[in-house]
Amino acid sequence: MIDAPELARSLRVRGVALAAAGGALRFFPADALSDAERADLAIHRDALLAVLAEDQARRERTMRAQAPEEGPVPFLMVTEGPHPPGHCASCGAALVPSERYRCGPCAWAAWTALAGVTSARDTP
Ligand SMILES: [Zn+2]
Repeated sequence: MIDAPELARSLRVRGVALAAAGGALRFFPADALSDAERADLAIHRDALLAVLAEDQARRERTMRAQAPEEGPVPFLMVTEGPHPPGHCASCGAALVPSERYRCGPCAWAAWTALAGVTSARDTP
């Protein structure tokens, strides 16, 4: 039987976005999974939520370490690039159709990492 990290990786490789939302698993596109895969998601729900939380925390730590306290912000990366077109510019994962430059987890991590950065225009 497939384990939670492998299930998450296999879905991502196929272009299925998997995310935690309010303690539930969400995936896109909605018709991307077979009934057997939906059953696997249900079996591994708690483990997948833990994998997603750990992965998100790693992205946020990596990006936060690159974010300055103020001033110009570099493009925040999770893994060294450049990454090829059609892949996340921050981590290199294949993008799904709803994603443009960064995958959903990296976009959220960048937003979180930059939440505390102040603009030079903000300082007196
Ligand atoms: Zn990414």
